[in-house]
Amino acid sequence: MSELVVLGAEARRALAPTSGFIARAGFTHSLTPARNCTYGCTYCYVPTMRIYGGLKPEDWRRWGQFTTMKSNVAELLARGVREHQAIYCSPLVDPYQPAEEQARLMPGILKTLIGKPPRVFVLQARGPLILRDLSLLAELASRTVLRVSFSVTTNQEEVRRRYEPLCASIAERLAVVAALRGAGIAVHVTLAPLLPCDPEELAARAVEASRRDLVGDPLHTREVKRHGATTRDAAYRVAAAHGEEHWFAPEFQSELCERIRAAAWKLGVGFALGPEGFSVLSRPVSDP
Ligand code: SF4
Repeated sequence: MSELVVLGAEARRALAPTSGFIARAGFTHSLTPARNCTYGCTYCYVPTMRIYGGLKPEDWRRWGQFTTMKSNVAELLARGVREHQAIYCSPLVDPYQPAEEQARLMPGILKTLIGKPPRVFVLQARGPLILRDLSLLAELASRTVLRVSFSVTTNQEEVRRRYEPLCASIAERLAVVAALRGAGIAVHVTLAPLLPCDPEELAARAVEASRRDLVGDPLHTREVKRHGATTRDAAYRVAAAHGEEHWFAPEFQSELCERIRAAAWKLGVGFALGPEGFSVLSRPVSDP
């Protein structure tokens, strides 16, 4: 793998009021500690948002090739965080992308929130680095409703390698989910976006690791979603090279989601999609 290019810059604000998908899921604010994400997943919808995702042209042209960490994010957060907020971190990057290892912004963010807790704080991540901050996460969980939404997109390692080659393996990600659960953190597996997989096995492995409701979202397509963020072209090229274009077809995705819902139900948990699914994460009460 080429060396990570990690830049730093002062940001003007840490928290942004939500709109669209995340607002419909019940979050009042989003928190994004960086611009650009070096996981660079082929399907990532963020670069398709361009300036509406707070990006600069070099971000969407060279998505995943570098990242710019917001060096003053904890300071800005301390000024902007309020008790009533339900914060989603982040719709635009993985807060535990590999660059966080050297940037170390998340400990400052978590300490700020421990001192001034919002109503709900949700981390959307897939980076195993999250375990570095386990003691801070446990402390924050004692001060507010903290949930981790951990992305697992398939149960098939060869598929994972094709669509998200820089991400951790499925086995490692499920082990992280189990470790978070073992430490008493409320963690949900997020099956989003749903890549080619064996839906029943994916559901079974996700529930075994998290023992909580599953959250999901199929691959977005222009056919269904006329405007806004959508799957980037690189994923279509991977699908075409492997005869997997049908995974983007809305009818196929509906059947797939029904199979996951049925499998989850048999295992005693729920499975919901889109804003309804993500609203499980913004619930104002602590999970049992
Ligand atoms: S980890 Fe998330 S934000 Fe980062 S490139 Fe992949 S899909 Fe995009």
